[in-house]
Amino acid sequence: MLLMEMSALAEKNVLIGKFEELNKGYYNEMLVSVNKINSYINTISLRPTEDVVAIINACKEVTAEMQVYILERQQEFFSYIDQLIDKRVNSHDCKNCSGSCKLQHRERLTFFEISYAKMVEVFKNNLAVFENMAETIFPNIVHLLQNQLILLESSLTEAFFYETTQIKPLIYKMQQAIGAA
Ligand SMILES: [Zn+2]
Repeated sequence: MLLMEMSALAEKNVLIGKFEELNKGYYNEMLVSVNKINSYINTISLRPTEDVVAIINACKEVTAEMQVYILERQQEFFSYIDQLIDKRVNSHDCKNCSGSCKLQHRERLTFFEISYAKMVEVFKNNLAVFENMAETIFPNIVHLLQNQLILLESSLTEAFFYETTQIKPLIYKMQQAIGAA
């Protein structure tokens, strides 16, 4: 086997391994958290007082956005990595395919930064609802919800840190190898 093919395969394995770690250690855990929040919401939705309605709406927005965010990453991220690896392993050269290579390499990485910034805003806007909480008939569950949201927010930050430090450099290296960066 050629030396170049071997290093491409090594890069492939490392990248797939890192992505699986990201998926298992962060994305799936975040989805568990989303489901927990949704089940708490279902419980307090039984007797919605005005203060609780604001909380329900805030939580619903966060979980809906979060679900899209994670699915987008699980699917788009992986399908891009898959295509990138394929090009890398087959010694594709983007310098000779101008126009025909539709992977939009640079945009892929920017997209993940933009959607993260958007998600951070969603948390910021919706967590504010807990700040001036009036008396509620569900103090425990409201407290649990707040904690879950804070937990989910820090998982988001940690996952993004992992993406930035562990995944992005490998993707960039592969993009460079095929002449796309
Ligand atoms: Zn190309």
